[in-house]
Amino acid sequence: MTDIATKNDEVQSVDAQISEYYNRLCQRNAGEPEFHQAVLEVLESLKIVLENDPHYADYGLIQRLCEPERQLIFRVPWVDDQGEVQVNRGFRVQFNSALGPYKGGLRFHPSVNLGIIKFLGFEQIFKNSLTGLPIGGGKGGSDFDPKGKSDAEIMRFCQSFMTELHRHIGEYRDVPAGDIGVGGREIGYLFGQYRRLANQHESGTLTGKGLEWGGSLVRTEATGYGLVYFTKEMMAADGKSLNGAKVIVSGSGNVAIYAIEKAQEFGAVVIGCSDSQGWIHTPDGIDLEKLKEIKEVRRDRISAYADEVEGATYHSEGSIWDLECDVALPCATQNELDGEHAQKLVDTGCKYVAEGANMPSTAEAVEVFRKNKIAFGPGKAANAGGVATSALEMQQNASRDSWSFEYTDERLHVIMRNIFRACERTAAEYGHEGDYVIGANIAGFKKVADAMLAQGVI
Ligand code: NDP
Repeated sequence: MTDIATKNDEVQSVDAQISEYYNRLCQRNAGEPEFHQAVLEVLESLKIVLENDPHYADYGLIQRLCEPERQLIFRVPWVDDQGEVQVNRGFRVQFNSALGPYKGGLRFHPSVNLGIIKFLGFEQIFKNSLTGLPIGGGKGGSDFDPKGKSDAEIMRFCQSFMTELHRHIGEYRDVPAGDIGVGGREIGYLFGQYRRLANQHESGTLTGKGLEWGGSLVRTEATGYGLVYFTKEMMAADGKSLNGAKVIVSGSGNVAIYAIEKAQEFGAVVIGCSDSQGWIHTPDGIDLEKLKEIKEVRRDRISAYADEVEGATYHSEGSIWDLECDVALPCATQNELDGEHAQKLVDTGCKYVAEGANMPSTAEAVEVFRKNKIAFGPGKAANAGGVATSALEMQQNASRDSWSFEYTDERLHVIMRNIFRACERTAAEYGHEGDYVIGANIAGFKKVADAMLAQGVI
């Protein structure tokens, strides 16, 4: 084990140093297991960097990287359709702005708490760095549950949320977007209230906007399409393609739907997808138009698909990961794929896994994939297409321009190819060929770390 000198000229092994950082972080951020999990994965990958380049531990760099620059928690009162006052909690974690304004989505889901937003914000730093675009990392949201709410209730909630958030965001400061529970409708209400309070049409402050008022073509499709572009590169590295491959996609929200669309365009057969209550098996492939109608137009459950499409079956027991496939694309939520699921995928012949969701695989699952030499694309690389296209939306807003679908999609494709290559190249450089987790963590880290070192202790 290489030793590195600390500021006090003490000598401490990298392992011990990383353990110390991590233990202290767990103490100071108690009760935030997802945040601990996300940090530990990155710190594990950084051991090899610190062994080779000890200066990355100088000036408290790692401790500063793991501490958000600012964490906002605020009350969001709103009135429901019965005239009752409801109170939710709003969050915005502005994690790191060394590379550019904070950038990251807003999540509205009852499971949201500070630890979830911190894990997402932390991941976002490295993801945004990997895109090669000038954006820092942030994330936000609320424990508000949009399910079952009327449009008017969603609007009142969004207006109240933005009434507080607006003073903390701006095109050069912090640029939120959508995530789970926040789609085009919510961004519309949020932007409307922002515009009113700011008294200006500052379109660069939110991304995922409608096409008529500053949105970008391809933003809706970007995360799902980008995930499939990344998967295609990962398979091509082994001389394989998606044509004829059996693919499972979990979830049936924004990311899942457009991953299915692009995978089908490349000739894959998508044999299942899911929602939080169950999953469907579609051995002959998914009828995408039907799926879009059920999920995007009617906002119905996935079980409706099996009721309406012959040959499809619905299951509320077991797991979608029990299906035999070549490629698995988890696109629902964090920790939805555990060690047992991973083992099942390996045993039934799955060779490629790429994460459309943020941290959908548990640490145990990632270990199973690593041991069994499954090509594994971590979310911070594989799902970066969404935020990359948000940054392209910001570019269009800044230049008062709007690009064609084809041009924007081509930019996305190139960005995803470059992200894959950066992961591949960096993993090989550090002696871990084919380990895209190490590749993504180190490539994402070094750019942010260099910027932080150049900008001094702040
Ligand atoms: P949506 O709200 O559009 O869809 C989420 C989907 O996941 C729904 O089908 C939902 O089912 C399902 N789901 C939620 N919780 C669970 C659960 N516990 N078990 C199984 N399924 C569940 O969100 P997005 O598609 O936008 O986001 C999905 C993931 O992708 C998230 O991890 C998000 O952070 C990540 N991501 C999204 C980006 C984007 O551009 N939208 C960008 C990068 C990452 P139900 O309807 O029943 O709740």
